[in-house]
Amino acid sequence: MDGVPRPHSRPDNERVCAGQTGEGERATRRRTAGRPYRCRKRQTPPVLGGEWKIFINNEWHPSESGRLFATHNPATGAQICEIEEGDKEDVDKAVEAAKAAFQRGSPWRQMDGSSRGRLLHKLADLVERDRVTLATLETMDTGKPFLQAFFIDLEGCIKTLRYYAGWADKIHGKALPVDDEFVCFTKHEPIGICGAIIPWNFPLLMLTWKVAPALCCGNTIVLKPAEQTPLTALYMGALVKEAGFPPGVVNIVPGFGPTAGAAISSHMDVDKVAFTGSTEVGKLIKEAAAKSNLKRVTLELGGKNPCIVYADADLDWAVDATQQGAFFNQGQCCTAAARIFVEECIYDEFIKRSVERAKRQVIGDPFDVKTAQGPQINQDQFDKIMELIDSGKREGAILEYGGSAIQDRGLFIQPTIFSGVGDHMRIAKEEIFGPVQCILKFRTQEEVITRANNTEYGLVAAVFTKSMDKALSTASALQSGTVWVNCYNALHVQTPFGGYKMSGNGRELGDYALAEYCEVKTVTMKLTQKSH
Ligand code: ADP
Repeated sequence: MDGVPRPHSRPDNERVCAGQTGEGERATRRRTAGRPYRCRKRQTPPVLGGEWKIFINNEWHPSESGRLFATHNPATGAQICEIEEGDKEDVDKAVEAAKAAFQRGSPWRQMDGSSRGRLLHKLADLVERDRVTLATLETMDTGKPFLQAFFIDLEGCIKTLRYYAGWADKIHGKALPVDDEFVCFTKHEPIGICGAIIPWNFPLLMLTWKVAPALCCGNTIVLKPAEQTPLTALYMGALVKEAGFPPGVVNIVPGFGPTAGAAISSHMDVDKVAFTGSTEVGKLIKEAAAKSNLKRVTLELGGKNPCIVYADADLDWAVDATQQGAFFNQGQCCTAAARIFVEECIYDEFIKRSVERAKRQVIGDPFDVKTAQGPQINQDQFDKIMELIDSGKREGAILEYGGSAIQDRGLFIQPTIFSGVGDHMRIAKEEIFGPVQCILKFRTQEEVITRANNTEYGLVAAVFTKSMDKALSTASALQSGTVWVNCYNALHVQTPFGGYKMSGNGRELGDYALAEYCEVKTVTMKLTQKSH
């Protein structure tokens, strides 16, 4: 593809990446075992012309250890390519680069806000230019339907970059009236070196949610993509360089959680870490931050999100929105509609219509435009979901639809609906992260609010009703970072996103995220005369 940057080349150790057919196949020398992968023509990302390395100081580096790891296409099981595996030594190098880029007097520190904004806009332009390539890489790496990658993930990525580009010259403090003969104002300054640890379910979007506000505020970054899905992050490295960000401002170290991830969260020179992922790992990151330098931490973790459907709701719309909320992204969302509480008098009808809708769910090749559901990300997640489905059957929930793997199709799981779900069942308490809809029955508003809040999580919730009173009183009572009324997954770059309770700390998106990437400095000046 013309104009697409070729991130790196390593003539002394040529390896061919996935489906590289555009320039003819080249010899492969692999350091780890793996089957070569030939994708169908429409799956061939033209960018894969070289190797995938570690991005530090706007240059591509091999790993210090010399190790590689493979990434696979979950739809076919085939290996896509190998990537240099970063760990502590590579993180150290990346942090050094980020530190140098953040030093007083560096080009980045001297750059004014409007120039930072221009760079972010330029990055957004490049993402728009390469939108098809990025969506293709995301689909190959995650298995998510291409149309969703293109229209949802990429759209969100571009909007987030442009939103924070607009904020870059509007980061300011306040002038504060104080007692006696002092003049006082605050300045909002960048924190410094920001670590970012990214999950596999929305690799590019979660990257942008962290990188865009961090750069907008003038920080530098050391980022680790998830080991399952490193490709779009590395491609973004090439675009960061092309956009003209100074060396060291963005550094990307692909690798594994307990090695590269832990090296970021425990690093003495990393000033802040932003993480999206499981609650279990979130705790490890907070602990590592506390045990090292008390770096600032923002966490966006799990959820067991309640949806409350009152009897007066628009039934078809509620069926549609809640099921879409449960199955979107193969159910691999922290915002998944996990517990759908339906008022007694519409319960049976709601289930009937939900089953009818699930039967129409098209599952298959993520590159087919008709596909709504692709494979789960990997065997571990697949096994975990199937085990939870079995637990639902064992614990007495009624399997209304699905409940099995799709025969001979690797990591594909039938959209699954359970009714008769009890609050005590594991499927009602644990995050499933798969295409499983749990439908529970309730009688009164008071009862359903208590049950909806009876979870350690508090990320999102939804209410379906035509009554404004019910909508507002329920929204107020729910312990949740977001409440959607008559809609689901309605995320906007302008509004904050984050969780109550064990769903996380801090907020991403909106102007709220700016506070997570700034220190506040108070400047107090003594006058000889009162100024007011
Ligand atoms: P999931 O359970 O959905 O796979 P994780 O929370 O395990 O998600 O992973 C999210 C991100 O956290 C990934 O980039 C992963 O490599 C990273 N990670 C996993 N373990 C650790 C750890 N101990 N320290 C830092 N990062 C980690």
